[in-house]
Amino acid sequence: MKERLAELEALARELEPAADSRAAVREKVVEYSEGFLNDVASLKAYVVSRDKGIGLLDSPIAESGIDIDAVISLLAENVDSPGLNPASGGHLGYIPGGGIYFSALGDYLGDVFNRYAGVFYASPGAVRMENMLIRWMCDLVGYGTASHGNLTSSGSLANLIAIVTARDGRDIKSADIPRSVIYLSKQTHHSIAKAIKVAGLVECPVRYVELDERFKMRADDLESKIEADKAAGLNPFLVVGSAGTTDVGAIDPLVAIGEIATKFGLWYHIDAAYGGFFILTDEGREKLRGLEMADSLIIDPHKGLFLPYGLGIVLVKDVAHLQKAYSFHANYMQDAFDPTDEFSPAELSPELTKHFRGLRLWLPLKLHGVAPFRACLEEKLLLAKYFHAEVQKLGFESNVEPELSVVTYRFVPTTGDADEFNKRLLEAVVADGRVFISSTMLDGRFTLRFACLSFRTHLKTVDTLLGVLASGVESLITK
Ligand SMILES: *Cc1c(COP(=O)(O)O)cnc(C)c1O
Repeated sequence: MKERLAELEALARELEPAADSRAAVREKVVEYSEGFLNDVASLKAYVVSRDKGIGLLDSPIAESGIDIDAVISLLAENVDSPGLNPASGGHLGYIPGGGIYFSALGDYLGDVFNRYAGVFYASPGAVRMENMLIRWMCDLVGYGTASHGNLTSSGSLANLIAIVTARDGRDIKSADIPRSVIYLSKQTHHSIAKAIKVAGLVECPVRYVELDERFKMRADDLESKIEADKAAGLNPFLVVGSAGTTDVGAIDPLVAIGEIATKFGLWYHIDAAYGGFFILTDEGREKLRGLEMADSLIIDPHKGLFLPYGLGIVLVKDVAHLQKAYSFHANYMQDAFDPTDEFSPAELSPELTKHFRGLRLWLPLKLHGVAPFRACLEEKLLLAKYFHAEVQKLGFESNVEPELSVVTYRFVPTTGDADEFNKRLLEAVVADGRVFISSTMLDGRFTLRFACLSFRTHLKTVDTLLGVLASGVESLITK
């Protein structure tokens, strides 16, 4: 047995590389990532590739490892090149990604020390840090001391946590489902529909509240729909407002919806995944009044605080609801919970063992302070206004004033099909690759979207897009 143990140990110890082997790999990784960071301003925002990274399949997982140079070339060719480059400031489609560097270092430290951030008893410091970040965000949105929340991997998971909390908060049991009504709009993000399904609420009647000409929920229509449902003996229980829709960046009338929710006893959830952090700006704070009225809300640091993908947040006004939805008992954890401790993520979310994801937010906030984040967000609001004005000078229609940092626009040629024209224009922009844009359907029309949220997007990037659009239009018209 001892002989076998010695053999196994010799191989197992490869998982603990010595300082010089660590340094050798680390230096290559740093060299590779520094090369990327130094060039990112000139890299394409989208790379059209024929093989779509298929070379990765030629290197299957095997018994023996390969060296770091081979690994980096696999990544460079097959992963870090084809498709969208979310780290590019030229990413102006969907909701752009981030990738601030100090966040990566936060992940690095979090991973090396691997603190157990699920339970206070195991890592009081890590849990305290996450709770402190949650408290900072509760204060930002105007929640009181009874509020709490959870750091999740994404906005979709945050929405799911909130919808389950709403279900239990309003005591919706299976038998109540067919008569328990949910109010959304056609602009509500599809992750809400997914959450409703996953939460077992798919058989709840769903009402789509009418939108006004700026794609905001009409509060008067919400109220009359609730009244009609009540009169019909149904149980209206949940309304979801959006604070910055993905499509057009519209903010629903948060205060009016909040008053209606209070009047009729509905759970009020606000999806502020995209728009929430604009509350750091003066303009955003004004526009986001009413966030504090929500029973639950979500915001995405991997959108509005420019973090690399992997961080969403759910906040709940009364922590008792989160506890009701997620607390549990397990005999083998009997030493882990002391009621005088701070709350642990494991008591307030579906997770147990979890990534110490707070550090990827805390480190950049500590190193930079909040001021550059605030400035970067205000810059994005101004760039949207600038783009809205300039794109119209190029002859585009852009009827709706941008509320946040999304602008919708389309070119209407004097002859031919406008939808087809804009589709081809989008293809031309994506093929050029310096900037990346996306599209949507608004009132049945193919419409282009400018979505500005990358910390690397500045005036020069927007001017590049305007230039690409102008020459795209010209070549399509003269074709
Ligand atoms: C992005 C987004 C989501 C989903 O968040 P993920 O982090 O992508 O899962 C939900 N709602 C809105 C309004 C969004 O913009």
